[in-house]
Amino acid sequence: MQAKAIISDGKGTFNLSTVTINPPGEGEVRVKIMAAGLCHTDWDSITNWNKTFVVGHEGAGIVESVGKNVTDVSVGDKVILNWAIPCGKCFQCRQGNLHICERHSPVCGCGLEGHAHIDTTTHDESPIERSFHLGTLCEYAVVKAQAVVKIDSDIPFAAASIVGCGVMTGWGSVVNAAKVEAGSSVCVIGCGGVGLNAIQGAKQSGASKIIAIDISEARLEQAKEFGATHGVVANREDLDFVQVREEVRTLTDGRGADYAFECTAIPALGSAPLALVRNAGTAVQVSGIEQRIDFDCELFEWDKKYINPLYGMCNPERDFKKIIAGYHNKQIKLEELVTKTYTLENVADGFDDMLNGRIAKGVVLIGELGEVGAIK
Ligand SMILES: [Zn+2]
Ligand SMILES: [Zn+2]
Repeated sequence: MQAKAIISDGKGTFNLSTVTINPPGEGEVRVKIMAAGLCHTDWDSITNWNKTFVVGHEGAGIVESVGKNVTDVSVGDKVILNWAIPCGKCFQCRQGNLHICERHSPVCGCGLEGHAHIDTTTHDESPIERSFHLGTLCEYAVVKAQAVVKIDSDIPFAAASIVGCGVMTGWGSVVNAAKVEAGSSVCVIGCGGVGLNAIQGAKQSGASKIIAIDISEARLEQAKEFGATHGVVANREDLDFVQVREEVRTLTDGRGADYAFECTAIPALGSAPLALVRNAGTAVQVSGIEQRIDFDCELFEWDKKYINPLYGMCNPERDFKKIIAGYHNKQIKLEELVTKTYTLENVADGFDDMLNGRIAKGVVLIGELGEVGAIK
């Protein structure tokens, strides 16, 4: 079949093209994409990957067809796509670390092993990869069956489409990685699409003090709607967090917080969460900084832990269902995160809004209901 897709050259440009999409092979499914979230990682891939690919790694849709030996999902199922595809068999999967699968992970696995058969999607009759094995900015995606999680929920597709990246990363870093306990004090540095979800995770975990930190007063106001109890305005110049540290100490009996989560992806703030936690507290780098971070070892005094979880240590079947359940019982806000929606035709506006900090999360609405039958 022919389908519209956002194709990038990985050198800073992208455009809307028509691609040919073949039927799913063994163990694969073809998903009609209904909505896809935009993420800073997409922009990073568009500007840095230096190869041609279908953009997008967050999305939700409907299973349109299935290949041989697919048993967990069937045609008509509503699904969320998950880029950290577990194989279920490798060393890390057997340890329960499904998010760092040694075979399928696009971050730490074996290259294209997580891809559906590579000639699935062709563009100008040549094979083309899909970003993070998904390529969700496309009307259809052929992916491994393990890359989709079936959801039995009437949640709108736009809200469901953002679960499999920023929501999971922020929420999971609090719930799965740090395991924040009820009554704790928590700092969240940066209140964008990831930080707001760290705040939601802290609130759901019963943290009694949730201190949001951002340079924008408007974002701090929004953070309070997601559960922050206090807001601290950071000074853009104060990368050592001298003033923020003082304010956090004042709010935490002079001691520092039990937990601090860095959600800005700014390398100069890589050590900032250590400065905000008490002795024996836990500092978490949520945003996946991959550059050099300079640590003054005094920041570790004393007994502090610094952890760097990937993707909120996602176990997709378990966690997506927990997040959707949290949405239904009004503990987790999803629709409120979607600041603005776009179409495949105006994706460029979405990236522009995202890069200029005008939105918490942008979602591209792609498919229309009614073409593949009723949703199961
Ligand atoms: Zn993402
Ligand atoms: Zn594995």
